[in-house]
Amino acid sequence: MVYGRILLIFTLIPFLSSIAQAAIHVAVSIAPLADIVQTVGGEQVKVTVLVPPGASMHTYEPKPGQMKEMASAQAYFSVGDVFDAVWVPRFRSANPKLQIVELHAGIERLPMTAHTHEDDHARHGRKDDHHHEQGRPDPHIWLDPKLVIHMSHAVAQVLAQLAPSQVEEFFRNQAAYAQRLEGLDRDIRALLAPIPAQRRAFLVFHPAWGYFAHAYDLRQIPMEVHGKEPSPKQLAATIHAARQTGAKVIFVQPQVSTKTAHAVAREIGARIATLDPLAPDLVDNLRRAAQAMAEALQ
Ligand SMILES: [Zn+2]
Repeated sequence: MVYGRILLIFTLIPFLSSIAQAAIHVAVSIAPLADIVQTVGGEQVKVTVLVPPGASMHTYEPKPGQMKEMASAQAYFSVGDVFDAVWVPRFRSANPKLQIVELHAGIERLPMTAHTHEDDHARHGRKDDHHHEQGRPDPHIWLDPKLVIHMSHAVAQVLAQLAPSQVEEFFRNQAAYAQRLEGLDRDIRALLAPIPAQRRAFLVFHPAWGYFAHAYDLRQIPMEVHGKEPSPKQLAATIHAARQTGAKVIFVQPQVSTKTAHAVAREIGARIATLDPLAPDLVDNLRRAAQAMAEALQ
């Protein structure tokens, strides 16, 4: 009986220690970033995702249990969102060894026009981040396949530092991922190429698709004003602008209220369609988004 138990322990030790040695623990804000890290890192990498399904990154506040989990994380991948600006210093004070990796490093970022995410926070009564309210660049960099390739390379480099014995695996995974993303980029380009110039504008409530629009020569027209529902006057202006585009579809996302979008849709006789900038399956999601836009803009 005792002998059996000892035997069991000895059989488990090599197994447990191999997991303990290999496992890397990193954290990200949102699911599509976890997809990038997991695709490059494979099964040896544990990724904590802080923003749960259905929540908006720009307004989410991590729970105490998640802050505890951050204490064992080795790296945190930031995209320069207001979430990162507010929470990275707190992650750091809870875990001084935490490596902060800026995935937006080396990416030429677009300005966030007609809307600032920071106002979401002002509305939630947070006063400590007012100093960077103005002029924060658009954080939605994961919605352009070419930028994802760039980000995945940075991820591979960081994981290689954390687990040098697996460097080949990480870069092999990254190369395969880059190839998939190149294919995706070609497919999206082909899908959207036939849309005539006068139809290349699309209406969206929350302007998450700026990099996507930039990459594929589309024009994003946001409805949200400074991260909020527009006032009646702004709504009238939005309806006017929406009419001018001739758009028959207004895109919304699951994490944000669709009240205004529905009001505008009624006024201009458009239908509502969903694009999710935070879906966890990034490659398939970008493909779905391109198909939805091709359909909407035909
Ligand atoms: Zn957003």
